[in-house]
Formats: sequence, C-alpha cells, structure tokens
Amino acid sequence: MDARLEAIRDTVLARNPGEAEFHQAVVEVFESLGPVHDRHPEFLEAAILERLCEPERQIIFRVPWTDDAGRVQINRGFRVEFNSALGPYKGGLRFHPSVYLGIVKFLGFEQIFKNALTGMPIGGGKGGSDFDPRGRSDAEVMRFCQSFMTELYRHIGEYTDVPAGDIGVGGREIGYLFGQYKRITNRYESGVLTGKGISWGGSLVRPEATGFGTVIFTQEMLKTRGSSFDGQRVVVSGSGNVAINAIAKAQSLGATVVACSDSSGYVVDEAGIDVGLLREVKEVERGRLKDYAERRGGVAYVEGGSVWDVDATVALPCATQNELDGDAAARLVRGGLLAVGEGANMPSTRDAVAVFQDAGLLFGPGKAANAGGVATSALEMQQNASRDSWSFEHTEERLTEIMVGIHHRCASTADEYGQPGNYVLGANIGGFVKVADAMLAQGLI
Ligand code: GLU
Repeated sequence: MDARLEAIRDTVLARNPGEAEFHQAVVEVFESLGPVHDRHPEFLEAAILERLCEPERQIIFRVPWTDDAGRVQINRGFRVEFNSALGPYKGGLRFHPSVYLGIVKFLGFEQIFKNALTGMPIGGGKGGSDFDPRGRSDAEVMRFCQSFMTELYRHIGEYTDVPAGDIGVGGREIGYLFGQYKRITNRYESGVLTGKGISWGGSLVRPEATGFGTVIFTQEMLKTRGSSFDGQRVVVSGSGNVAINAIAKAQSLGATVVACSDSSGYVVDEAGIDVGLLREVKEVERGRLKDYAERRGGVAYVEGGSVWDVDATVALPCATQNELDGDAAARLVRGGLLAVGEGANMPSTRDAVAVFQDAGLLFGPGKAANAGGVATSALEMQQNASRDSWSFEHTEERLTEIMVGIHHRCASTADEYGQPGNYVLGANIGGFVKVADAMLAQGLI
C-alpha cells in the first residue's frame, strides 16, 4: 500500500476498534488508491480519505417490541449515514443476528462507491438491526418493523436518506416499515423507501435487479474473453432474493446452475436448479433448501459443508460477507473456474480475491457486480418523483444499460491506470474519483 495512505489507514483502524469487517472494506479500497493520489494531490490536501472514512452521521437506537407470547424483546437498531456528496444517503437495511456497528459500517462504506459507480444521484448509507426474523410470525415481524420505524422515521426522507432491503428485509418488511412511516408523518412520501410493492409505488424489476444485474455484469466480463454464459456450469451460493434471480438470469442465458446453498447446507442439481420450485419453497413458503431437495427428488442435498466444493466455470457468491475463503478459492481455480461475479457484499475474503487475481481469472467485486439492486432503487425513486410507473421492458433495459456502463467504467479505469482486467482497482478508483471530486467541490463539510 502507498506509504501516504498507510498512515491514514492506521488512524482509521485505531479510531474504530473491534470493527473487523469495516477494517477489511477500508483496507481493500485503500490498496487501490495510491495511483489516484499521485495524479490528484489535492485529494490528500483536502483530507478526502479521512473524511470519507468518518460517517457523516451514525444513529444507534433501542427497538423494543413484544413477541407473540407477550414477552418484551429489545433489539438494537442502526442507521449509518455515510456520505451524501452525490445525493441522499441510499442503502438497505439488514435484519440479522450478526448485525453490529462494524457490519453496518462496512456495508455503508462499500455502498458509497457502489452507488457512485451506478452514475445515479445517490449517496451512501446502510442500516439494520440484530433482530432475527427467522421463526418469527408475520405479526411479530410487523411489531418489530413498526417499533424500528418509530425511531427511524425522524432521520429519513426522500431528500435525506432512503433505506431499502438487504438480508432479512424484503417486500413484507418494507411494507410494514412504509405503513408506519406514513402513519407517523401523515405523508404519502413514496420516495422515502425503495423495494415497495408494485401497487403502492414500487418498481417493476426491483425484486430481480440485484441477481439479474450480477449476471449482466459477469456476462460483460466474459465477453472480454470472447465468452458468454451459454454452456457455462455455474455455482451460486445462497438461495435468497439475489441468488434466485441470479440463477434465473444465468439459466435464461444458456448456463446450467448446478448448485446453490442456505445456511444449513447445499443442493447439487446437475440438471439445473428448477427456479419455479425454488421460488415456491423459498419465497412463498419461506422454507429451506432441504425442502426443495425433497420435493425435487433425484438431487443431492449436503448438510453442512461448502457449496464451493462443487466445481464450476462461473461462481456467483450471493449469500453473505466472507463466505468464500482462500482455500475455497484455490479449490475452485483447480476445478476450472473462469469467472466470479459477487452478488453479495464482500463475499470473498481478501485471501480469496488474491487467489482469483493471481490465477488471472475474471473477478467482479460486489460493489460493481451487485450494483443493479441499488441502481433500480434509484429508478424507483425516479418513478416516484414523477408519479409514474414504467413497464418491465423499459426498466430492464435501463438496468442493462446501467450494468454495461458500470462494467465499462471499471474496465476503462483499470486500463487508464495500467492494470487492464483489474476490476477491483477499476471499481474502487472509478467510484472514489466521482465522490472525491464532488466532496472537493462542496468544500470542507
Ligand atoms: N441492499 C442492497 C445493496 O447492498 C440494495 C440497497 C438499495 O436498494 O438501496 O446494494
């Protein structure tokens, strides 16, 4: 790492103790940014990096609610409003027991660059709670969401901060959150949340967008080597919203997705995952992958273990952070891997990224590859602002244009900095320069 940036990194790490995931995200970005500071010493003079690593505002709050047995439950809520140089803070809410400040900050930090890369006018933020929705009734989830919004509402708004979903927050949760916001504020402010239902201000393609976008980005990478998804053997991790839609899109382009996973195990389905059945089990019944395997029949279900033990030519990690380590990466490379597109946020450890890059294969980091979700959220905001709703075809076309544009920005930035094919460098520099220029123009704030 560039010596000038090392000192800044050390200060950031020391000021934010115990936040391992935030440290990882910061270090990974800093490793790309030396050459930018050679060309732009004004960024150093204006302390852009120091400011970028310090969120503009961090909100932590108590979320009290009662479960179905009438017992009081207390969770912790977070919203980190990281950077508003390019637009209102924008980013999802994650409800998962692993959520703490370090996770929210890593996600918020990544979101700044991701959102910049989309070319849309959105800043970066993220939030969530350590609430575990698994096994909770709809009524419990509703009471939790209402309590969460009873504090959050005062911090958000169409022009301030626009949350959406992430792990554990889908259409059901956005509905309860939006209802409570509307009730408290007495405003039908559609643009305050994205990922809404289609009949009350949502956008077509938003549910599919992250998974579709990841495949579109990966397809663009494959094209640079004269290849495509057609005929590829694909492994996807996860079986939530991002994974399901990545599987659907990859298969529509002629690939066979032979495996996917959940936190209990993975399924190997050599004929190609049956997306209709997977949607039924996961999205309608809120069931487990084990149920898919039983219903599908004739497929292998492996309890525990790692889905990365299954050989593939394309890997799409769509589960969660640090799910793919150096050993798994080495195994995949030995098994003939050609490309990786990250549908999740930071799913590959730093060791894994190094293995992929050393092997010279195509590696699309999450902040570029999975930006289709937030980009389509920005399209939802556009539709809300103009009180309009677009067709599926038009919205998908916009998403495709945006993903092709992100690929182009990453690839041309990597070329410009003398590292062709390095999408990590391209994404980090491409996103950073946009934000840094805007921060410089807006003065010391
Ligand atoms: N949680 C998603 C992400 O990681 C989407 C955020 C949004 O739509 O605002 O980018």
